[in-house]
Amino acid sequence: MSEFVVSARKYRPQTFETVVGQGSITGTLRNAILTGHLAQAFLFCGSRGVGKTTTARILAKTINCFNRTPQLEACDVCDSCVSFNSGNSLNIYELDAASNNSVDDIRGLIDQVRIAPQLGNYKVYIIDEVHMLTANAFNAFLKTLEEPPAHAIFILATTEKHKIIPTILSRCQIFDFSRIGVKDIAMHLTHIAEKEAVSAEPEALHLIATKADGALRDALSIFDQLVTFSGGNITYQTVLTNLHVLDYDYYFKIVDYLKKEDIAGSILTLNDIIEKGFDGHQFIIGLAEHFRNLLMAQDVRTIPLLELTEQIKDRFKEQSGAWEKNQLTRAMYCLSKADVAYKSSKNQRLLVEVTLMELGSLQQEAEKKNP
Ligand SMILES: [Zn+2]
Repeated sequence: MSEFVVSARKYRPQTFETVVGQGSITGTLRNAILTGHLAQAFLFCGSRGVGKTTTARILAKTINCFNRTPQLEACDVCDSCVSFNSGNSLNIYELDAASNNSVDDIRGLIDQVRIAPQLGNYKVYIIDEVHMLTANAFNAFLKTLEEPPAHAIFILATTEKHKIIPTILSRCQIFDFSRIGVKDIAMHLTHIAEKEAVSAEPEALHLIATKADGALRDALSIFDQLVTFSGGNITYQTVLTNLHVLDYDYYFKIVDYLKKEDIAGSILTLNDIIEKGFDGHQFIIGLAEHFRNLLMAQDVRTIPLLELTEQIKDRFKEQSGAWEKNQLTRAMYCLSKADVAYKSSKNQRLLVEVTLMELGSLQQEAEKKNP
């Protein structure tokens, strides 16, 4: 049996083109290579798992490639590319400042910087989590950053841009990496599932993408876990159970009860949910999100804001047709009140039930106003 390689590593993008969800940044970098206006110091900012280090490595490989493609990608066959791909290139130096943040660590790097590359044109220094460097280490580094030798390129990466001192910021070209959209993550997962011959329901991959909250790496590690757990057949149900996510169906059902003013029905459904081990507060937040989605589904202009599969979007569109806009906003207001009150409430279950009763009376209220 072949060795299991985690998807985040196995499918780490090797070209600018395949970096997920950061098209404008990779476009700018390619353009800089084309025009020969490459900065010597970059600051890559953004939350974890959005592709900062991956992009840094691709940049290092591409600018050292002897035979770049017309699309300005590395050729993957020249001596330099081969050494990069096998992890043996001497032109890339990575320092993780989270665990190596002392002056000595930085001095080690500075000593390296003076030595010109043997193969290729650039030596690229990637300092990850650069905000973790001590003040002394920062100061030691500053001079090198101010007057780097022509062959040196620095790529500093951070999840916390506000912690970077202005003297560093002013010397770097700054790129802000955005969170990766649910759609992009889901598409990437679909592609990997195909390559790995894993069968996966689209809704299941979509749910994983939602749970990953913009971080591709998290999505891939959830995906790997579920492949192992499900034996290569990822269904929507498996994901729900494993990630302990409440099925949309419950919310659709409760909202139907509320519309019919069937308070008993909604409270019995709540009981089912609590018996399944879900927490009342999560339920309040989930239901608020559901009403928000209903509101978005009422207007063609806001439908694109629903980060959902087409099938579920259609269900929202259908259910939202039965509600007046002001009822939906009232419901969201009610739920946000309950959300705030939840932590300090002495009887949290009662709070949730009273909230459902309130939501189940929105119809009557509207009728009283417009008999
Ligand atoms: Zn090459």
